Amino acid sequence: MDFQNTLEFALQLDEQDSLKHFRKEFLIPQHAGKDAIYLCGNSLGLQPVSAQKYIAEQLSSWQNLAVEGWFDGDAPWLSYHKQVAALAAPIVGAKISEVSIMNSLTVNLHLLMVSFYKPTANKFKIIMEGGAFPSDQYAVESQVKFHGYVPADAVIEIFPREGEYTLCTEDILKTIEENKDELALVLFGGINYYTGQYFDIEAITKAGHAAGAYVGIDLAHAAGNVAVKLHDWDVDFACWCSYKYMNAGPGGISGIFVHEKHFNDTSLNRFTGWWGYREDKRFLMAPGFDPAVGAEGWQVSTSPILLLALYKASLDVFERAGGIDALRVKGDALTAYLEFLIKAVNDEQGEEVFKIITPETIADRGSQLSLICKRDGKAIFNYLTQNGIIGDWREPNAIRLSPVPLYNSFVDVFNAARHLSSAAGL
Ligand SMILES: *Cc1c(COP(=O)(O)O)cnc(C)c1O
Repeated sequence: MDFQNTLEFALQLDEQDSLKHFRKEFLIPQHAGKDAIYLCGNSLGLQPVSAQKYIAEQLSSWQNLAVEGWFDGDAPWLSYHKQVAALAAPIVGAKISEVSIMNSLTVNLHLLMVSFYKPTANKFKIIMEGGAFPSDQYAVESQVKFHGYVPADAVIEIFPREGEYTLCTEDILKTIEENKDELALVLFGGINYYTGQYFDIEAITKAGHAAGAYVGIDLAHAAGNVAVKLHDWDVDFACWCSYKYMNAGPGGISGIFVHEKHFNDTSLNRFTGWWGYREDKRFLMAPGFDPAVGAEGWQVSTSPILLLALYKASLDVFERAGGIDALRVKGDALTAYLEFLIKAVNDEQGEEVFKIITPETIADRGSQLSLICKRDGKAIFNYLTQNGIIGDWREPNAIRLSPVPLYNSFVDVFNAARHLSSAAGL
């Protein structure tokens, strides 16, 4: 698209935006009496207006039905998670039975590694992206140690080439192939939290399988952001949090995906609890674990209904907005417009003040641009914050900005770039 660096043009894009009315369904934080420019949905998505109502409904069921709420009412708690899974599944390209909504993200990563990290004396290594989100690094290290291996031997991290910020798919595939005799698991982020690079999950999965390894994907920054196709890409397992692009509130409940081909594989270890027991017999309280068929069989504990309600509030908005494909079209346009405007700021300044390290190719990114500030990074970021532009800062010099299609506008992006320009000119 041919973009223009004018407010009129941004207003015109907003006018043509078929998703523009969804902004009203979110509570935008206020700054100096106006809507802040919130470009931080990669870290904490905004609150749906409906969230209070969804919570109030559950409080009222608790009040009126008390323990009967598990079985009675419009949405009995016993199966409430199924409604949420049904809404989440299409967003990650899964069958409903392949999704379960439970726990929080790092906990789920551990539970899934219990099943899918099955090291043997020869095949015990894990390949992951270098600079993965710290929680994932800690989880992997502890899993490796739990099995009696040493992280320095067992964990292979892939880093960008000299002078580059993002990974070449070619290097990822080559590393998998080269380590095939010792490889047990490939565990990758769907989108790297720092650079915003969206990895080629399908190619990585294929290479991992060719190497005789399982492949798991942490979708923390991808779920609700880009249109992943977990089932079709044959990914073995995945997990995500719901509080970033999924808008389910701080510490929101997490989702897992287990490919249906693993449902009946009794050789997979699980850490089990009664909530993963087949539902029709759960309350017989019999000894001997008999798992529910599907991803639900990985559940451990009683569903946290209030957290599920918050997630459902948000997923209902996703559904009404036409799902992830519709959102991605706008997300790509917003992100490309922001990219165009940041390049214009650099041109104005006569120097590359903001180096965009997120891939330029649209297929290799979602709604996030990571900028390396070549000078005055912290001062620029503080200026943005003081002027109501909410992004996020990563030491020593990175700013991440995420225009989210559900609630950001083209005018938001335009105004954010104007402030970047003022900040760079100070
Ligand atoms: C946000 C994020 C997490 C956070 O994990 P929690 O268990 O929800 O605290 C973990 N991994 C990745 C890749 C993330 O982006």
